[in-house]
Amino acid sequence: MRLADSNGYIKANRFWSVIRRTVDHSNLKHFNIPDKLGSINPYLAKRSSSLRIKALQYLSSLSNQEPLPLLALSIFRNANSYSLNAQSVIQNGKTLPRQFVKTTPGVCSDCLKESNYIRQIWSFWPYEYCHKHKKPLINICSCGEDIFVYKDTVIGVCQHCNISYSELDNVGKNEHNLIISDWLGSIENHCLPDVNQSHKYGLVFWWLKLHKLDLSSFKGDEFVLFFSNWPNSFHTFLENKWTYFVEYGTKPVGEAKFKDIFDDLLIISSKLPSSRFSENIILPEVYRFFNENVLSNNNEFLSLRINSIEAAILLNTSTEQIAALVNLGELKSFIRVKSDECLSLNQYAFELGDLFFLWQAGFQTEYSNLSVLTSRW
Ligand SMILES: [Zn+2]
Ligand SMILES: [Zn+2]
Repeated sequence: MRLADSNGYIKANRFWSVIRRTVDHSNLKHFNIPDKLGSINPYLAKRSSSLRIKALQYLSSLSNQEPLPLLALSIFRNANSYSLNAQSVIQNGKTLPRQFVKTTPGVCSDCLKESNYIRQIWSFWPYEYCHKHKKPLINICSCGEDIFVYKDTVIGVCQHCNISYSELDNVGKNEHNLIISDWLGSIENHCLPDVNQSHKYGLVFWWLKLHKLDLSSFKGDEFVLFFSNWPNSFHTFLENKWTYFVEYGTKPVGEAKFKDIFDDLLIISSKLPSSRFSENIILPEVYRFFNENVLSNNNEFLSLRINSIEAAILLNTSTEQIAALVNLGELKSFIRVKSDECLSLNQYAFELGDLFFLWQAGFQTEYSNLSVLTSRW
């Protein structure tokens, strides 16, 4: 839309059809340009996004003024970088879960007064407040229609009643949502963890998975409360899980799996999107929790059974390397397999304690990301 503006077109759609005609009539046909301007972001391309990237580079050069940073603003599809095979997108060096990209972002009227363009961060859930003006984004126009900025023909003007969104009032206040938006907008924030941008979205994603929530049931106040008491809040959470199982569990601790008590905790915490201890703030606390319990002799949990996938997360390595550790006799497996067979990834073959002590013996340091363990012998 800004490109259309700087080329003197008032209506972005008109500009787009001219572009489409130029591309169709020239030798540029190989560019992958979609029919609708709204689908230009490469993550929406049906197949490869590389042709879409070429098209964007071409479009940037069309601007009458200095080239627009179209590529930096574009959103690309990314391989699974968050846990549970969640699809993610990448934008200008940061990743976020794909489901966090809103197609109908709200707007800040004060921002539009200053400069008439749709800011990208408005599209990234759970950013609901303008961190610059401390006001909630507006989702409904004064005419009662939902705001759909990517369908409007003129930037910042309602397609139904022609009012400029800059004339609307931002109303309402929610302290916790403001704290989260400040955090996502990189305003210095003492309540929430100081991690990089991709990991901020990673923590929100982790929180949703931990509590089995969808986006609509996310409560900003609970999230802020939990992370402003970090890491004590997390230790309490783990302790409660443990005591609940000891009191009400369906089987004795000696027969239990890690999963029976802590569910998918290790799996959902393994990619935030990184598993490195220097960036991932969850995993080190999981270790610290076990460590403190071992020291206080409350170590019944050391007998919890885990499978290869969880073992690989604990040692920050691959499941193949776990199999190699078993072959080398470094790791005891409770399931005997014949020499020509492999242990299935989902078999609960290991004891948490064995893994824990292996890790303590030096497999995991703050900066380690050991993908090959066997070279140590
Ligand atoms: Zn604003
Ligand atoms: Zn309207």
